[in-house]
This record gives sequence, structure tokens and C-alpha cells, in this order.
Amino acid sequence: MRGYISRLPLVADSPAFPRRLCVLGATGSIGASTLDIAGAHPDMFSVLALAGANNVRKLAELAARFRPKYLAVLHEDGVKELLALLPPGYRPFIAAGESAYVDLATLPEADVVVSAIVGAAGLAPTLAAARAGKTIALANKESLVLAGDLIRGACAATGAVVLPVDSEHNALFQALRGHDPAYVSELILTASGGPFRDKDAAFIASVTPEQALAHPNWSMGAKISIDSATLMNKGLEVIEACHLYGLAAGKVAVVVHPQSIVHSLVRYADGSLLAHLGPPDMRVAISYCLGYPLRLPLNLAPLDIVALGKLTFEAPREDDFPCLGLARRAFEAGGGATVVLNAANEAAVELFLARKIGFTGIARIVETALDRHAATDAGDLDSILALDRETRDRVKMTQAGLG
Ligand code: NAD
Ligand code: MG
Repeated sequence: MRGYISRLPLVADSPAFPRRLCVLGATGSIGASTLDIAGAHPDMFSVLALAGANNVRKLAELAARFRPKYLAVLHEDGVKELLALLPPGYRPFIAAGESAYVDLATLPEADVVVSAIVGAAGLAPTLAAARAGKTIALANKESLVLAGDLIRGACAATGAVVLPVDSEHNALFQALRGHDPAYVSELILTASGGPFRDKDAAFIASVTPEQALAHPNWSMGAKISIDSATLMNKGLEVIEACHLYGLAAGKVAVVVHPQSIVHSLVRYADGSLLAHLGPPDMRVAISYCLGYPLRLPLNLAPLDIVALGKLTFEAPREDDFPCLGLARRAFEAGGGATVVLNAANEAAVELFLARKIGFTGIARIVETALDRHAATDAGDLDSILALDRETRDRVKMTQAGLG
């Protein structure tokens, strides 16, 4: 057990309030929840920087409301479009391109970097924030899947702090706080099971993107919604938990809990299970990270446990949802295997959403990519990004009948 991925500050050495936020992925689902909290606590947070990708209109609306000093978009064309949409008299710095996210993530004035870009695109800015010694509220689980060791190393070198936004990991973080990690026997991640938890194999083989996007409990971006339906999301989360808490994959179990009220559990050596319960609303986890080590009041309807009545737990159906096992296999293989897993999955999810493959094709593509991958070392950022690109290209070529 290597211990937590970063140091954990006390109140005295945490950023003072009001904290200046840099939100990467501001136009997405996590971005919206983050800005909702910032808007509700203007005395505690100011918005320094916002970055989106292609939804320039949404970014302009957020910018008009929060007036950050810095903005970033993915494409150069977006800059002109954004400028035309901003209110008169407000002239922020606007940057474009992949390097713009790294620039924003390392702004000297930023106290907390919210890493909420979806997919492997989140890695470079997240690692840059760690190398700049920032406090990172980490939603982008893919960056740990690709480069958990690099992020751990950067945190050790600079004193950067990683706080988990992902609800299960945030639940574990809360259930571990104040306890000696030497007494932890197991982490138990809960999974909703997604929209096809109780469907048979024939049904699963024929599902459409619309059915797969309709998550029963959480409202999220498209990619993570598909990952939740395949259980790849839980597989990525097992890897994320191993990197965050410094554990071997065998120490992280998965249990299906369809109500999404128990967000995860820690099993201790004396038989105790400490769980975190809460409404399925990402603002709970996000506010815990933004305010850490303080707990912020949130104006959410209290969870009515009597109305809920019962909480149920069952084993995941790994044969019908093979992505969970594929993720464990990749983590155990080590080196670049988790990069291949993630890249093949991202490419396959795109193909599924574009109706070019069926739902079960996602797992097949990931498995083929892992089968073809010759063991490599984990590598530096450039080699990780090269392996990521190479894997995506290979998936696309195979799909086009060229590979
Ligand atoms: P989303 O699709 O709603 O938003 C993604 C954001 O990333 C948008 O702002 C988009 O503009 C930006 N983006 C997309 N591609 C980009 C690129 N190439 N470069 C720069 N920016 C880019 O996604 P989301 O649901 O908010 O998820 C964001 C991250 O948080 C993911 O890693 C996801 O796994 C994680 N997460 C989300 C939830 C949730 O409830 N939504 C829960 C746990 C973890
Ligand atoms: Mg999660």
C-alpha cells in the first residue's frame, strides 16, 4: 500500500477563501455543477478561468455571468465567435488550442483547478496542474487511468493536492478521513448497474445510443453515460481508486447498488464497514473538494431514508458486462495497457454513438486492442499520448476494414 496519491492539507496550509477557481470543462455536466456551487457561495469562490471545447455559446453565457479573467476554447475559430457573444465592456484574455488548457491550469493566480474535461484530453492539463503544485478537484478519471504514476510523482515533487470529485472516490475519501490506512482491508465501489442491469444478453446486444444514454439515476455527459451502461465506467473507477489510494486491484471490489444512495464503502480490519450515503447529485462531492478541508452547506433536499425504504446490493454480471474485467486485466498488465484500454474505449464509444457499431461491439473492440498490445513501459507524457493516438487510429482503421 503506497498511501494516498498526494499530501492532504490542513486548514492552515489550504488556499485561503475566497478561492480562485479555474474550471476546465466548464461547459459540461461537472462544469455546470461546479459553477452552481461557485454561484451559490460568492463569498468563498471567485471564477478566474473557464475553458470549454466547442460549445462556445454556453461558454459565453457562463463568462457573461461569472466574468472570469481568462477563457479558453479548443479551436481558433471559436475565439472570434466568443468575442462577438461577450457583453460590451468585458474583455477577458482568450486562448485557443490544446496548449490553452495547460496555460489555464498553471495560472499563478489559480487556487483550485477543477479538472472536468472528458476523456484523455484531460491528461495534459491535469498533469500540468500537478506539476505546478495546484490543488486539483479531479473529475477527469481518465487522467489517472492513463498516467496515475506520473501524477503521483508530480504531486510528490511539488506538493500538489488531488481531491476526488468522482462520487465513489469522494465517498471513500470521506470514509477514510481520520483513519489509519494500515487498517483498511478493502475498498468497495458501488455501481448503479446502468440502464441494462436487469436486461438479458439478447436485449443488451440490440440497445440503441438513446437507450444507453438514459441513465436511471445520474444526469451526466454522453461518454460517461455510455461507460456506465457498459460498466467500463466502473472498470476505469477501479483503476482510479488504485491510483488514488495506492492499492493493488485485488483490494478494490465492486458491488451493484441500483439506488445510488450508498456511494462506496471502506472495509476495515475489525470488520467495520464505513459508507458514505447521499443524494445522487454531484454537487455533494464537488463542494467537498472545493471547500476542503471545510464542509460547505449545500441547499439540497435532505435525503429521506424512510421514503427510500430499502437499499439493495448485488454482484455485477461480469459475463454480460465484460468491460469491468477488461479494465482489471489492463491494470494488472501494467505499463501502457490502461492507455490502450482507455483509448480503444473512447474510440469505440464514439463509433457506437455514431451508430457504426452495436453496444456489445464496444467491449469487443477494447478486448481486441488489449490482445494486440505488446507490453510496454508506462512511459512519459509524450509516449502515453502517442500510444493513445496510435490505439485510436488502429480502432478506426480496423473499423474501416483497413487494419
Ligand atoms: P461532459 O461531456 O458533460 O463535458 C465535458 C467537458 O469537456 C465540456 O466542457 C467539453 O467542452 C470539454 N471537452 C470535451 N472535449 C474536449 C477536448 N478535446 N479538449 C478540451 N475540452 C474538451 O462530461 P462530464 O459528464 O461533465 O464529465 C467530465 C469528466 O468528469 C469525465 O472525465 C467524467 O468521467 C468525469 N465524471 C463525470 C461525472 C458526472 O456526473 N457527469 C461523474 C463523475 C466523473
Ligand atoms: Mg463515479
